[in-house]
Amino acid sequence: MLQDEYINFTITKQKHIALIAHDGKKKEMIQWVDENKEILRNHFLSGTGTTARLITEMTDLPVKAYNSGPLGGDQQIGSRIVEGNIDFVVFFWDPLESQPHDPDVKALLRIAAVYDIPIAYNRASADFLITSKYMNEEYERRVINYNRTISDRLDELTKE
Ligand code: PGA
Repeated sequence: MLQDEYINFTITKQKHIALIAHDGKKKEMIQWVDENKEILRNHFLSGTGTTARLITEMTDLPVKAYNSGPLGGDQQIGSRIVEGNIDFVVFFWDPLESQPHDPDVKALLRIAAVYDIPIAYNRASADFLITSKYMNEEYERRVINYNRTISDRLDELTKE
């Protein structure tokens, strides 16, 4: 049954939004946040260290700062997604620069996909997301029921 295969989690009306921008994209991020300030101030904001501090400084919005990306900030945000404490991500990554923490970037994108988290990775997708009707509503995201997968695997691995 489809119901058993997935578990629903609610993205509440007031969302927990993580903001991340690589250096080459930080200006664009600040501009985007500034343009959408009135919407964003109704939500809980967090971000990787430098991005978070820059946004707070330039826009006066409170943004909880995790570690800087190269020091594990993307991984911290990934773990908050796993714990259910971040449910929306805007990640302006730079497609023209390789990063020392490229594996962390890939890991964050993967975990966002696993947990059915809306994630915008450029300005256009961020504009579409922020103007979505779901910004003012609850939304049920659907996550694979891994407990079932674990018990199926245990059955498989322990059978004679
Ligand atoms: P930063 O990290 O906000 O600390 O620059 C962003 C990133 O590189 O992932």
